[in-house]
Amino acid sequence: MGRILHSGLSTGGVAVGKAFFPGGSHLSAPHGADGAAATLDEAFNKERNRLEALAAESDIFAAHLEILEDPTLRESIEACIRRGMAPAAAVDEACSSICAMFKEIDDEYLRARVDDIRDICANLRRSLDPGAGRDPWEGLPDGAVIVSEELFPSDLAGLDFSRVRALVTCKGSLTGHVFIIARGKGVPAVTGIDISQIHPGDKLLVDGAKGEVIIEPSEAELDRTGALVSGLSGVCAIGQESRWNVRYSRPDGSRVAVLGNAANADEVSAAIEGGAEGIGVFRTEFMFMAAKDFPSEEVQFEWYSEAVRRCKGKPILFRTLDIGGDKALPYWPLEKEANPFLGVRGIRLSLRRPEILRAQLRAMVRASAFGPVKIMIPMVVSPSEVVAVRTILNEAVRDLDPDRAVPLGIMVETPAAALTARSLAEVSDFFSIGTNDLTQYILAADRMNDSVSDIYNPLHPAVLEAVRLTVEAAHEAGIPVGVCGEMAADPVAAKALANLGVDYLSI
Ligand code: PEP
Ligand code: MG
Repeated sequence: MGRILHSGLSTGGVAVGKAFFPGGSHLSAPHGADGAAATLDEAFNKERNRLEALAAESDIFAAHLEILEDPTLRESIEACIRRGMAPAAAVDEACSSICAMFKEIDDEYLRARVDDIRDICANLRRSLDPGAGRDPWEGLPDGAVIVSEELFPSDLAGLDFSRVRALVTCKGSLTGHVFIIARGKGVPAVTGIDISQIHPGDKLLVDGAKGEVIIEPSEAELDRTGALVSGLSGVCAIGQESRWNVRYSRPDGSRVAVLGNAANADEVSAAIEGGAEGIGVFRTEFMFMAAKDFPSEEVQFEWYSEAVRRCKGKPILFRTLDIGGDKALPYWPLEKEANPFLGVRGIRLSLRRPEILRAQLRAMVRASAFGPVKIMIPMVVSPSEVVAVRTILNEAVRDLDPDRAVPLGIMVETPAAALTARSLAEVSDFFSIGTNDLTQYILAADRMNDSVSDIYNPLHPAVLEAVRLTVEAAHEAGIPVGVCGEMAADPVAAKALANLGVDYLSI
């Protein structure tokens, strides 16, 4: 019998493959790996030795040593680690806040110490994270099971999913975007696993249905799941074939439409060919995350028009950029925030850079020449945000094709939006309820944190009441309302949503 690790959460699907630990700042290093990360003590000792040797040759380095010995640096790194940051990321965070403090000081000598702090921190970081700067996917074998402490969507840039059989993480949750991406690719994923037991190259049987990872499974264990795992591909992807052919009825007997969620043109095709009645949310930020540089209006026009064509005349709802929270763009560095899910995320960011929003809206309007397009805005809390976007959209339509009508709707995913849905309905052409975020914000339970996954419950009466209020406000105003959060794909939750009267589900 192989050793069985139990997971908190899993996506379904079964896979067998070899453990692969990606390299990178917060990505975990495997046990006993060469060049393993040093502890904070070891990193400080190493830097102290280096500086002492340099100080013996030149006085310049005496100041460096003072900075290293001053408790401020060490304490602020430790404070960041206590807040849950990986040691290398904690050094970055402490470095930028101390440098910001020094820059404010009205003393030239102290201001000049900023470079010394940066130098020291860069060395600490290198000791704590020997893999920094390396391609995290270097050496990825075929048939890999990715094993990592935690994964963020930006980590997946450059990952060749065709080589991946499953994802196994210690931290994370099913509504985190990494799991949404994995599900979109049909790759089983489990989280809440004690990965310290897994070594690189271990054969792993990942049972996403049971929420188990078996290290070096026995023949009997492989046989037990053998019917599910094809010998050739080593993976039984999460069933996607019939997910769009489900039927739900509303209290008046009318049928709830079922659309698909997508993040690229291939996912649009998979949904439409699988029977989806359109695309309920096209998460445009994933296209941006896959790009190396800021995409121009022209590049975006190519992306969106391809997606519209693949929709074959069915409607597609493009969502404007939802960067922030757990999603970042390598070529758009943003201020670090203590609470990114409550920070400059989604439409807040787009409205601070209207030229970026304008290019995106123009590309979408142009793509609407190929089929029915709607545009929706993430993270809305006030009608003024919708009015601001509509002004830019109207300018684009006037410029490009004054006869074109492109509906503008909003994601209802904040408590504010649900509670003031009536006022928002006056300025919106449709609502799409984003229950992934709505649940986390209403229940004050981080969607990324598996320690509160028992509290994070989209069927909590408070979340259902928010959905009810939103549906009521939409129907009073005569606009359609759908749900595009992960709960829409769960048959029990979908029935509850149909009973509340939603017009469509997007899954
Ligand atoms: C949601 O919040 O429910 C949603 C669909 O958007 P995302 O998961 O991309 O935040
Ligand atoms: Mg959301």
